[in-house]
Amino acid sequence: MRKYSIRKRVLVTGGAGFIGSHLCERLIANGNDVLCVDNFFTGTKDNIAHLVGSPHFELMRHDVTFPLFVEVDEIYNLACPAAPIHYQHDPVQTTKTSVHGAINMLGLAKRLKAKILQASTSEVYGDPKVHPQREDYWGHVNPIGLRACYDEGKRCAETLFFDYRRQHKLRIKVARIFNTYGPRMHPNDGRVVSNFVVQALQEKPITVYGDGKQTRSFCYVRDMVDALVRLMGTPDSFAGPVNLGNPKEFTILELAEKVLSLTQSNSKLVRCPRPSDDPMQRKPDIALATRKLLWRPRTALAAGLSKTIAYFRGGKVRLA
Ligand code: NAD
Ligand code: UDP
Ligand code: UDP
Repeated sequence: MRKYSIRKRVLVTGGAGFIGSHLCERLIANGNDVLCVDNFFTGTKDNIAHLVGSPHFELMRHDVTFPLFVEVDEIYNLACPAAPIHYQHDPVQTTKTSVHGAINMLGLAKRLKAKILQASTSEVYGDPKVHPQREDYWGHVNPIGLRACYDEGKRCAETLFFDYRRQHKLRIKVARIFNTYGPRMHPNDGRVVSNFVVQALQEKPITVYGDGKQTRSFCYVRDMVDALVRLMGTPDSFAGPVNLGNPKEFTILELAEKVLSLTQSNSKLVRCPRPSDDPMQRKPDIALATRKLLWRPRTALAAGLSKTIAYFRGGKVRLA
């Protein structure tokens, strides 16, 4: 098809979600036309309300498990609920979103000869036996557990991406995203950063699962969006998979202490049972991203948490 516009047309699936909305913003700021596709399962129009009305932004309600016929140059495939309580709500739909969604978006990319990026996840490593996780580690995933709909769905999506590359010479990029946080996280998604911040602001008990000695590394959303855009811009010979995240590791107890001190909250810690298949340690090895994307996260946890706290203070959280 002939192309008249000099602006790149970029499709973001899951564009009304937490990471997707920041990505849409960045892509428009970089001079692209953005088509945001979302079924609003966990995303909200509030996240992209400020973009609606821009001649360079278009919003489409659509479920990626169904075929999509649009004309674009690049695709970021982010559509998928990401928090355990969301993806376990309808696990069959979660697998469908990852697998059928990937097939449809890859079919679209194939027809258009468009470049396509998949938002994969550190969960493909499961409860890892290798630490920190490098891209050549194949993971330790329970295929029949509560997290499997998400983990195995994302693993299968990676398989599809690489098979479309081998079979149809598609230009693909696979990002393995590690825990990301920041403004526009869903206040009730049960994830540790949003939970602790909301609990601290409401002076409610801080729910530490298990002994709180399990670790995570938290990447601020702005750094993540930088990495995704850089990954899309890498030469066609580089497909990934590539770990994206902040390698600085914290225990959950350390995170709780930081949130309490930044919010100056009097909340007390309470111990709750640890969910099944909850990984004990998680930290990305980002040597590949550093080399290929010339990227590293720049936002320290305290600085990112302060922005997140300011967002949740701004009345976006219903204090029910
Ligand atoms: P999110 O839930 O805020 O965003 C996902 C978006 O996809 C939502 O707007 C939701 O409504 C939409 N969606 C879900 N199913 C859909 C469907 N069938 N059709 C169309 N839209 C659909 O989550 P997020 O944290 O912004 O995550 C974005 C992507 O990044 C996801 O693919 C997730 O798996 C991946 N990821 C996120 C993290 C993280 O820490 N946030 C970590 C690893 C991977
Ligand atoms: N597809 C889509 N949009 C397109 C082209 C294809 O949604 O512009 C879907 C299509 O419905 C198909 C899937 O992508 O189910 C995979 O397409 P592909 O061409 O790879 O496979 P085939 O159509 O041969 O099954
Ligand atoms: N967690 C916690 N309290 C909460 C929510 C989560 O202690 O209120 C723990 C959880 O058990 C896990 C870690 O924090 O070990 C990160 O959980 P999250 O759901 O944010 O992300 P994921 O498990 O997907 O990394």
